[in-house]
Amino acid sequence: MKKQSRGLVQVYTGDGKGKTTAALGLALRATGQGMSVIIIQFVKGDFTCGEHLFAAQGHPFEIVQLNTGDSFAQSWEELRSTTEQSFAFAERAIRSGGYDIVILDEIFVAVSKELISIEQVLNLMSEKPENMELILTGRGAPSEVIERADLVTEMVAVKHPFTKGVEARRGIEY
Ligand code: ATP
Ligand code: MG
Repeated sequence: MKKQSRGLVQVYTGDGKGKTTAALGLALRATGQGMSVIIIQFVKGDFTCGEHLFAAQGHPFEIVQLNTGDSFAQSWEELRSTTEQSFAFAERAIRSGGYDIVILDEIFVAVSKELISIEQVLNLMSEKPENMELILTGRGAPSEVIERADLVTEMVAVKHPFTKGVEARRGIEY
């Protein structure tokens, strides 16, 4: 498989639905093209997401979530410890050069909660090997990251059923 010549940094942010699923769509497309993909998920809720169940079937791509349980019910200190591990894992994945695509899902949520600094994210971006595509997702992407990224998409919540009391649905939201 011919390697892509130059990988870019992409950001999917905003309040509307579609950030994680856009990253997963990209993972599906790239995997189909014979590329190697790893997804590292930062702050996440308690649901078992369909993407984990999918990745366990035939291992089309790697998906790593080091925090267990509901991130939103954990103390800052607990979250900090698993987030540091996730971040170290992400650094190793990026530096290894062994992946065509690295997706850091909800990394901006970790930044918003001050579990990771903006500088740490900027450093990761600068360490990206030339050929690797790096995808960063989550609400509230910092302006410094937006400035440095090559592609930025903001999902706008024009309507979301959650505001009408519809809870997260299996296979749709998780
Ligand atoms: P998805 O994983 O469906 O692509 P997302 O990654 O864009 O969504 P997150 O910001 O990670 O969304 O939000 C986590 C959960 O909240 C998802 O289940 C998502 O569907 C839901 N959600 C997204 N946008 C809104 C919104 N405007 N109001 C309430 N819930 C939302
Ligand atoms: Mg998401």
